[in-house]
Amino acid sequence: MQQSTTDSGVERARRAAWEQLQRALREAAQRELGGLAASGPAFEGFARPPLWRALRDTRFFRDGSAAEGAELARQWNVQPSFQRLFQGSVAALQHVGLITRHGDRLTGPDAARRRELDAELSRYPDERSALLDAQPDLAAHITLLEACVARLLEVLRGEVSGTDVLFPNGALTLVEGIYRGNRVSDAFNRLLASAIAAAVGSLAAELPAGEPIRVLELGAGTGGSSAFVLEALSPWSGRVAYSYTDVSQKFLIHARRHFAPRYPFVVPQRFDLEHPPSDELPLGSCELVFATNVLHATTNIRRTLTHIAALMAPGGALLINEPTHVQHFGTLTFGLLDGWWLYDDAERRLPHSPLLGLEAWYRELEATGYGAFASFGVGDGDASPQHVLAARHAGAARPAEARSPAAASFGPFRPLNARLILSQRVDAKLTDKKREYLDAFTAHFCGTHPTAKSRAQAYRATYADQRAIAFFHPTLKELCFPLELERAEGARVWDVDGNEYIDVAMDFGCNLLGHRPPAVVQAMKDQLRRGLALGLRSPAATRAAQRLCGLTGHERALFTQSGTEAVMTAVRLARHATRRQTLVIFSNSYHGHFDGVLAFGGLEEGRALSKPIAAAIPPGAVRDVVVLDYNAPESLDWIRRHASSLAAVLVEPMQSRRLGLRPGAFLRELRQLATSADVALIFDEMITGFRVHPGGAQAWFGVRADLCTYGKILGGGIGQGAVAGSARFLDAVDGGFWRFEDDSQPEAERTWIGGTHAQSALGMAAADAVLGHLEQAGPALQSRLNGATAELARRINEHFIAEEVPLMVLYFGSLFRFEPNGPLSPIDLNLLLYTLRDKGVMVSEIGNNFLSTAHEPAHVDRVVQSVATAVSDLRMGGYLPRRAPREEPPLPEPPYRSEPDRRARSPRFEALLASLPRP
Ligand code: PMP
Repeated sequence: MQQSTTDSGVERARRAAWEQLQRALREAAQRELGGLAASGPAFEGFARPPLWRALRDTRFFRDGSAAEGAELARQWNVQPSFQRLFQGSVAALQHVGLITRHGDRLTGPDAARRRELDAELSRYPDERSALLDAQPDLAAHITLLEACVARLLEVLRGEVSGTDVLFPNGALTLVEGIYRGNRVSDAFNRLLASAIAAAVGSLAAELPAGEPIRVLELGAGTGGSSAFVLEALSPWSGRVAYSYTDVSQKFLIHARRHFAPRYPFVVPQRFDLEHPPSDELPLGSCELVFATNVLHATTNIRRTLTHIAALMAPGGALLINEPTHVQHFGTLTFGLLDGWWLYDDAERRLPHSPLLGLEAWYRELEATGYGAFASFGVGDGDASPQHVLAARHAGAARPAEARSPAAASFGPFRPLNARLILSQRVDAKLTDKKREYLDAFTAHFCGTHPTAKSRAQAYRATYADQRAIAFFHPTLKELCFPLELERAEGARVWDVDGNEYIDVAMDFGCNLLGHRPPAVVQAMKDQLRRGLALGLRSPAATRAAQRLCGLTGHERALFTQSGTEAVMTAVRLARHATRRQTLVIFSNSYHGHFDGVLAFGGLEEGRALSKPIAAAIPPGAVRDVVVLDYNAPESLDWIRRHASSLAAVLVEPMQSRRLGLRPGAFLRELRQLATSADVALIFDEMITGFRVHPGGAQAWFGVRADLCTYGKILGGGIGQGAVAGSARFLDAVDGGFWRFEDDSQPEAERTWIGGTHAQSALGMAAADAVLGHLEQAGPALQSRLNGATAELARRINEHFIAEEVPLMVLYFGSLFRFEPNGPLSPIDLNLLLYTLRDKGVMVSEIGNNFLSTAHEPAHVDRVVQSVATAVSDLRMGGYLPRRAPREEPPLPEPPYRSEPDRRARSPRFEALLASLPRP
């Protein structure tokens, strides 16, 4: 490997230490965390009875009444300084099912449910003992929770201080067991200790003798982690300088008494993470810095990480040992302390909690100058309640990647597809059996795809292709190469290595009629023969516009080249017609890759905060975008309150990534709100359009949108998009309707619309042929296809349930997805997809799979059988563990049949609804 000229011996030593540290973490994680359960028993199981005991006699619960949040706070006499604790407690009560929420309105359990809760409470002592017999580690958690919950109301009223509840008479007894002496905290402490010892050992071997190796512990407190780390470092006693820091002198005295005599290299020093470090601390020279359960307790995580960075040697390592998941337990225990709620950067924390999720930690570390990362928790996924994260100070160790001021000015943003990025960075811990199976499968798969693999390598340097890494995982790296197309026909595709597949990826949903449907191919051939001139309007374009409006019930339509452009155009038309700017979109939606919709965010104390989802999207591009929760009553409330300032609500009527939802009522509410405040309702029908019904999701849910965007199916396999809607919006394109031979003119005020290839002759020929076919076939085409997909899902789900596979198939129309139905590692899911491809079923790398009219019953049988054999193969290799499914796979919402809302309808739309299939 070539070495950079700036690569000094010290840098080399640090790099080697980082590698040792990661190796030690991996090994220790396998050793220490392997035997622990990924999550304890359900929180609600042991939290509900004590909560019910503490609150059942309040008026709210006694009467089963309903109240606004603020009213309940008044009833309970909550002091203003405890508002955050109150909000967090309400969220916890909601989580355990003691409160239900509709907007601001909170409702307690009814009489029947209260009786059940009383019965549960009377069983609680026995169930508690049984639980503790099975899991003695939980004793500290349960005891602390009970003690805190019993006095929650008093704390909220300001009658007793949280400190007195958690530390009665100043004693640490209640809290101590959470951090030390239980299997989980001890295992994580041993992980830290092994990693730090490995890195110190490596540095000691590489760096000149006499140079101290600086280790810094932050917020060391009573020394729960220090005890483990100091013992592990004792072999290097003569080399290590260990700063034991805390903000409280009490703990420094404790360190002087308890640790300094045994470990002479310990130096207790005061350091307040809220302030930049003083000169007395080892600035810029700490090789290893670590912190257990402390960083979240600072006001602003970004500032804290910056303060820490000032202490670190360039290329040094930071280890963070933090809970990354548990929220409600924290709220109801440590949340009673004022310090829990001091943070001023709620948008970076988990809801109602100072804790950060794993993704947020990565983002914050990245934003504050840390480079490489790894994280270790219980289990393969990120569901572990606790993690050790390792991050490397970017410093001089990666000169090429040093952050320039310009780079720093991007953001803040959420790392795109953070889950993928996380899984990309962490190699999985596989058992020998799994490793052996994986090696054999990899050799087999690569053997059947030699051309694709070698071409992937040969062209990687020149061809930048984001799709080629959609499956990437370090553990499955050798399998990660795109399959190249030889040909496609009907329901089948062939790759360049001669493998044949039943295709269910179906080009991201473009091929409703299968590959190369004869009518579409014929129309395109005819057009190619006649020429592709763009300057003259193609007759196919006029027909396609007519047909599009006929099928969807819209007044007018325009064409674009892609779905992204269609969305961009629809938003512009909505802003133009309403003369307003603000666009509402919903979390987890996707509307293409135009800057103006690539936002994430939410409501923070009622205020909308939106940020770009990726680097290099200027914050200004999403300044007027508000991101609300999909299918949530709170979102409707927010829209209701702000409707008069909104231009448009843009919604995927069924989010393709969350097919378990039944959003009909939500969509109908949106329609009403939009109508009453003159807000444009835009349906992004990219996937649902023409698929669920000729009239798309509008027809299915019985909701008429002002504007709809279409693509995918429309172009019969080539790039073609469209926007359709009422003349009020579309007239801004061409000035509206006018006649020859009178004094009429295009009078409507226009906005700018362009696109050289938007109505290309070839695209229009394809669209016209697709729409013509759909027109002729009528809704029966979709009914049959939807039915076949429901049957496919039913058969696969039946198999999953019988075989206890923690997966389920969710579907809507002819779209279906394999979704986890219980804990499942990304490796298992990815391997299932590779195995299906190996068995001749082309599944999609982004998860959206489709049946088309070209899929015959025999093809469907083959898919179902392949899933069954893939499951049994993977099980032989130790993958896809048997786990009782978490839930019944939900059925999609049936088509809407009730009384129409006349205000939002037109005769054309009424006719469309009349053609709906009977549920
Ligand atoms: N909106 C939705 C709902 C989509 O699913 C997609 C593409 N998957 C788009 C917009 C963007 O379309 P395109 O990729 O054609 O630009």
